[in-house]
Amino acid sequence: MDEADTHLIGSRCKRCGTYFFPGNVTFCRNPSCESDEFDAVPLSREGTIWSYTDAQYKPPEPYVAADPFEPYAIAAVELAKERMIILGQLAKGVTVDDVTTGMQVELQLQTLFTKDGQDYVSWVWQPKR
Ligand SMILES: [Zn+2]
Repeated sequence: MDEADTHLIGSRCKRCGTYFFPGNVTFCRNPSCESDEFDAVPLSREGTIWSYTDAQYKPPEPYVAADPFEPYAIAAVELAKERMIILGQLAKGVTVDDVTTGMQVELQLQTLFTKDGQDYVSWVWQPKR
């Protein structure tokens, strides 16, 4: 798969246009909308860091952590078109010292771990250069 084609899939309310992530919602959470019909839609691949922090402690399973645990940074990223914020890990090697609010990031694929010769891939936010 071409990384430029990679995007998260969210849901968009057919009546009011509100986006949701994760998708697969059963009813619209917009208080003034009573719809229960949604489209699966690709979300913007780029956004703006709204807030960030780092994870200094190993998350519980099913998270697969390196041994010894390697701390990682987390960013709350605002997608302008969707008017929503998505929480996700920052790319490997990016620390809280490398980012600030207002910084532009883009979606990127990263190998989360390898097991039995197979790579398990996840998405991360990569600061734009
Ligand atoms: Zn709605």
